[in-house]
Amino acid sequence: MQLQPAFSSRALRVKASPASILSQRARELRAAGRDVIVLTSGDLDFPTPPHVVAAAHDAAVRGDTKYTNVDGTTELKDAIRRKFKLENGVEYSKAEIIVCNGSKQAMFNALLATLEPGDEVIIPAPYWVSYVDLVLLADGKPVIVHCAPDNGFRLRPTDLAKAVGLRSRWFILNHPTNPTGVVYTEAELRAFADVITPYPQLRIMADDLYEHLRFDGRPFCTFAQAAPQMKARTLTVNGVSKGYAMMGWRIGYAAGSPDLIGEMIKIQSQSTSGASSIAQAASVAALNGPDDFLRARAEILADRRNLITSLVQRAPGLSCERPEGTFYLYASCEGIIGKRTPNSRVITSDRDFASYLLEAENVAVFPGEDCGGSPYFRLSFACEKEMLREAGTRIIRACTALQ
Ligand code: PLP
Repeated sequence: MQLQPAFSSRALRVKASPASILSQRARELRAAGRDVIVLTSGDLDFPTPPHVVAAAHDAAVRGDTKYTNVDGTTELKDAIRRKFKLENGVEYSKAEIIVCNGSKQAMFNALLATLEPGDEVIIPAPYWVSYVDLVLLADGKPVIVHCAPDNGFRLRPTDLAKAVGLRSRWFILNHPTNPTGVVYTEAELRAFADVITPYPQLRIMADDLYEHLRFDGRPFCTFAQAAPQMKARTLTVNGVSKGYAMMGWRIGYAAGSPDLIGEMIKIQSQSTSGASSIAQAASVAALNGPDDFLRARAEILADRRNLITSLVQRAPGLSCERPEGTFYLYASCEGIIGKRTPNSRVITSDRDFASYLLEAENVAVFPGEDCGGSPYFRLSFACEKEMLREAGTRIIRACTALQ
């Protein structure tokens, strides 16, 4: 018998990011000449601000092209500390900050540094699709807490209380929330803190990546700000990807207790080392530079949100609320389940619905199942209004054609 080279159980237990698979399928259809509107992506359509690009150029010309410290340049760590102080009212020392290749790496480092096999990580659903796989890669056990649709997908302290136990090591709290757009109030964050305070072995991972993408004047509060007594147990994760439209620059960061940050730096030193020197210089310009464009961009997004929400609400069988932040709309397709397509296929799930939309009307959306919530779907409104209007028209047509 021929022995096959084997793959680890770790590799086999995770799946490739469904978002990238879907986007690839949509790109293939496009390449084949189909007029596909892709609403699956986590990319913003805004350009990186010119002063940020200029700073990267300057850094390259200046010769900032060497390896940096694993945990980030002094300039960037100072800019991050300043950001936390001014925007969030939370102070960190340099030893409490790490710069990573995207916030995803910060989370990965933290989970690898802390989880033993079977340790539990509490993840409210609907969730960002990668949390579950990040936990599995680090040998942890995801514990999913479903946030009730009739509570606007807001996590209730009582739901959290049912999930917390002696094996809980992390509670991942993402807001503004991908995919539902929920933005928690300070009082809600305090109520979560009350639930977890009695479990000293439990840390909080506050994923604030969409902090700047909020609508209707809704304020933002980060967990360590709402519950300062929990600061030492909180890892605050953030980055420049979404706020500054710098997805491809791959700069994220985390702030937490120096012992945890130290372990994360050690792990990063043996995997990717420091982040790109050029992208770090660009991120200094982003964090220290003007911020009026952030509000202007959030207003543009709010306007698009209003448009796509009203269109999706007109589609027979679909329903949704207006998201409070992010650039995603999370809509129910419950009223579609059981209906027949014009070529007599029965739609039994949100995945079927997403396939139908793509095949029948060339609109790519993200099935809710991949975010731990069915029958829902997520669509991104990070695209021009004209395209969004066309997408909405196609979605209405596709739903109207169902029997
Ligand atoms: N957290 C959330 C909620 C996200 O949606 C994403 C990306 O889409 C990330 C983290 C990771 O972003 P990055 O690695 O670009 O910082």
